[in-house]
Amino acid sequence: NPRVGVLALQGDVREHAALLSGLGADVVLVRRPEELAAVSGLVIPGGESSVIDKLSRAFGMQEPIRDAIAAGLPVYGTCAGLILLADEVLDGIAGQESFGGMDIAVRRNAFGRQNESFETSLSVPVLGDAPVRATFIRAPIVDRVGPQVDVLAALPDGGVVAVRQGALIGTSFHPEVDGETRFHELLLENARAYRRSVA
Ligand code: GLN
Repeated sequence: NPRVGVLALQGDVREHAALLSGLGADVVLVRRPEELAAVSGLVIPGGESSVIDKLSRAFGMQEPIRDAIAAGLPVYGTCAGLILLADEVLDGIAGQESFGGMDIAVRRNAFGRQNESFETSLSVPVLGDAPVRATFIRAPIVDRVGPQVDVLAALPDGGVVAVRQGALIGTSFHPEVDGETRFHELLLENARAYRRSVA
């Protein structure tokens, strides 16, 4: 089973680590470049994207993560993690940066006060017929998708909430709080392929 990391600077790190361990992955909490170098896949968890951004720069992790993404490291970003994978962040705090890698624009806190948090059921065809139970918490939305990006799921109003570009996957919602494992399984599949390709 592949060794995968959870970026452990801030956010719901434990939930992702537990889920990945349950799938048989060898899980590493990643805070340093050496830890990043040892993994074949990475989860960027939900939390607060501006805080994860700042801490990643303080810990000297922004550049290593950008380099790893450019080298093809499979990454799955949820919520704040999706924001950090976006080439363009809308409604970020002043000076907020992202790692980038996905040719998308993502708008932070896109659902407004009335809808700060909600749950819904989503069809995600790449994951099979069973719908995905999706929990949104101060969630972002994907505002623009480039030509290389696959839309994996959208809300009934058309708002894009799950995307994939190559080995990068992003969701606006938090599958780890609903015991939904299929996005993480996809990451593990990508991690196995990546490990073979660099071996
Ligand atoms: N609103 C948060 C942000 O901007 C994301 C919320 C979440 O990850 N649940 O990063």
